[in-house]
Amino acid sequence: MNTAVDWLARIRALPLPPRIKVMNVCGGHERSITTAGLRKAIPSNIELVPGPGCPVCICPEEDIYEAIQLALHEGVILCAYGDMLRVPVNAPKSEPRSLEQARAAGGDVRPVASPLEAARIASDNPTRTVVFLAAGFETTTAPAAAMLVQGAPGNLLVLMSGRRTWPAVAMLLDSGEPGFEALIAPGHVATVMGPEEWEFVPRQHGLPTAIAGFSPESLLAALYSVLRQKLQGRCFLDNCYPQVVRAGGNAVARRYLEQSMDIVAGNWRGIGPIPESGYELCEAYAAHDSRRRLPSYTELARKRAGEMPPGCDCAKVVLGRIYPNQCRLYGLACTPRHPIGPCMVSDEGACRIWWADGVRENVWAGRKASGAEA
Ligand code: SF4
Repeated sequence: MNTAVDWLARIRALPLPPRIKVMNVCGGHERSITTAGLRKAIPSNIELVPGPGCPVCICPEEDIYEAIQLALHEGVILCAYGDMLRVPVNAPKSEPRSLEQARAAGGDVRPVASPLEAARIASDNPTRTVVFLAAGFETTTAPAAAMLVQGAPGNLLVLMSGRRTWPAVAMLLDSGEPGFEALIAPGHVATVMGPEEWEFVPRQHGLPTAIAGFSPESLLAALYSVLRQKLQGRCFLDNCYPQVVRAGGNAVARRYLEQSMDIVAGNWRGIGPIPESGYELCEAYAAHDSRRRLPSYTELARKRAGEMPPGCDCAKVVLGRIYPNQCRLYGLACTPRHPIGPCMVSDEGACRIWWADGVRENVWAGRKASGAEA
């Protein structure tokens, strides 16, 4: 089996073009790439661009706002993944602007690690309504779907904010300016949904594509694959994570998703609606749908669709249009202690990952100071 050093040697031996941009979709990939120092190890003509793979970063403002209002005004127990609690919304300063602040203001907000934990809280509190803010991609929506199909407590409602990853990449490719020439596709999503979901990238768009796991070896194998495809002028989907990514994905998880969810257009924070990218509870599970059972704040929340904190460039970071430290606020107004945007909150957010890795230079501020930017 090839080691990371072997893959690096192979990559360095390739007759690379002066510049090539490769997008890595997954937030977990970005963390592995950054913490392993792969950007510094690969030839400098390869640009690895983080893409739309942080579920916390793309959770729309209106969903978090709705969760805050439910926690404050409906007397519910509001459960959410821990990362979601610190994500700020652009509410007036006089109001709680995150679930954490809603908790400080008296809301019963509880961090959970899984939907089953939310179900247990519902079982332990039969007289209370429990709302689970189900943000995440296919990998975290599938356990929520399983919980519903297997039988959730009647007092557990789901505020569904699940998203599908491939439509965001399709949107970038259809834009005519994808900003990358090859793709490293997400291993965990492919494990659940099957590698086939990513075949459209080489087939319809002619881009080299490889699915990677989370070790440096797997990521470098995928990088080597897409570079070689590019150099040889042939594109295909290469599975560089065969240990867990199998044809058809996880049939049981997919069945749970099909039984409990409808696929709809989903709003992505700062980006807007992307066709076929959202999950919504289907009619059979309407009794567990927070938006149908507690609709008071849904319309109010919808009015906030598209809002972003002033100056926040998270949407550009998520779409790979800029690097984290090219945001005007990076490391200045926005730090992990005082995050302005969600990309500085989540462990899978590119800004947070880069900051944790020691990137302190704000490129935008540096260019402005040197007069390169107005
Ligand atoms: S530095 Fe902060 S405001 Fe800028 S893109 Fe990152 S999270 Fe958003």
